[in-house]
Amino acid sequence: MTGQARPNGSPVIIDNEDRFREECAVFAIFGHPEAANLTYLGLYALQHRGQESAGICSSDGETVHTRKAMGLVNEVFGEAELRELKGHMAIGHTRYSTAGDAGALNAQPFYVECNKGALAVAHNGNLTNGHALRQEIEASGSIFQATSDTEVIPHLMARSREPDLRHALRESLLRLEGAYSLALLGRDRIIVARDQRGFRPLAYGKMQHEGRDVHVFASETCAFDLIGARYVGEVKPGEMIIVSDEGVIRQQFAPPLARSQCVFEHVYFSRPDSTVFDRSVQESREALGRCLARESPVAADYVVPVPDSGNAAAIGFSNESGIPFSNGLIRNHYVGRTFIEPKQSIRNFGVKLKLNPVRHIVDGKRVVLVDDSLVRGTTSRKIVGIMRDAGAREVHLRISCPPTIASCYYGVDTPDSNELIANRMSVEDIRQHTGADSLAYLSLKGLKRAVADTNGEFCYSCYTGKYPTNIVQVEQLVQDYRMKNESGDSFAWRSRQAE
Ligand code: SF4
Repeated sequence: MTGQARPNGSPVIIDNEDRFREECAVFAIFGHPEAANLTYLGLYALQHRGQESAGICSSDGETVHTRKAMGLVNEVFGEAELRELKGHMAIGHTRYSTAGDAGALNAQPFYVECNKGALAVAHNGNLTNGHALRQEIEASGSIFQATSDTEVIPHLMARSREPDLRHALRESLLRLEGAYSLALLGRDRIIVARDQRGFRPLAYGKMQHEGRDVHVFASETCAFDLIGARYVGEVKPGEMIIVSDEGVIRQQFAPPLARSQCVFEHVYFSRPDSTVFDRSVQESREALGRCLARESPVAADYVVPVPDSGNAAAIGFSNESGIPFSNGLIRNHYVGRTFIEPKQSIRNFGVKLKLNPVRHIVDGKRVVLVDDSLVRGTTSRKIVGIMRDAGAREVHLRISCPPTIASCYYGVDTPDSNELIANRMSVEDIRQHTGADSLAYLSLKGLKRAVADTNGEFCYSCYTGKYPTNIVQVEQLVQDYRMKNESGDSFAWRSRQAE
């Protein structure tokens, strides 16, 4: 906790991790009498992708039921709430805001009754033309309930001249630019769709109930494992899948474009027990560590991960280098978002609440500290500090991705690019800033090799500053971000105050 004047003994927000923020998760299921309960479990598995709000819409074929609120999945849904969510189909969402402020109005799924019938929408991603579409729709008299870009989708569908949900959705999707993995619920069907470049993941799974297929869709396959579904494959870029009592229709609503799968899903966001973009996340992370060890070797006594997301890369680094792996930093998993700081200010108070070094391992040793990213540099500096306080003789920082120099406009909450330390400083300056004895990042070539990207199928824009789409509204997106941070209404703002 640094930077802001704040009286001792007052609550502080303990969210000082210097990372990109997960975006959102979507889940959808058709053909099970306990659809809402299974959606709840699916969202629970996907909680790491968004912790601000959660929501489920279900349908029994006649009536759509909705429950959404701010909070974690198990805070929003209890037995009573789930009992109300009747029906054999449901969609769900967990949210971390990337567009629109963090208020309850922006919690998803969005539910509307329009001329196409009942419609609920859950979205993972960010529409780069969301602002322009909203202006156009507002200019013709429509009123928006919330500030999220997602709300343009039901508006576009309501305005469509196409008579039914499926064709209205297709027409609407063709107007969207940017990143979207969508789950939609009508009264008698679910529909999922993915943008033409496949920025964000969307997996398709199946399970059986009383001898019949149950169709399941989720941002990550870890949600399938929890409910006993098996992974079938990806929803393809440019594809929509409609599931109803009449069966399953798979349709390309538009031809796929050159793939731009978010590489950060493999570097950091997704759970290591998930298959994302048809590839094991754990496998990618270990490969990142191995590549890093080959590119930037160093003599040391232990390889220590910054837990939990640095664990797999540290295993890879250790295996490749032959340096023993050790859990020299322990994460406290039970730290809430707020904490009352004691009257006497403690050095590195916030980070110590979450991470504590194992003095027995670290004292007098040369340590390779493996982390998955270094965004503003604030937390890395504190972690290097607490390793030294614990007696580490040398601390060598290794980052399992290239320097992050540019913001994301595809559904990941990133700082303004001038806040990114690698955009302002050389690697040597960053090393000095963190206080490490040496610092090395994985090269872009190494990253591509680690995710086996032989055909150029991943997005690397936050490392290159080159975007795969025309970011026509980049200034508006940056302005939205600044307004959000100035509004005092977003978690990102509060976390920055706490740093
Ligand atoms: Fe992912 Fe970075 Fe591309 Fe955003 S810019 S989609 S975080 S790789």
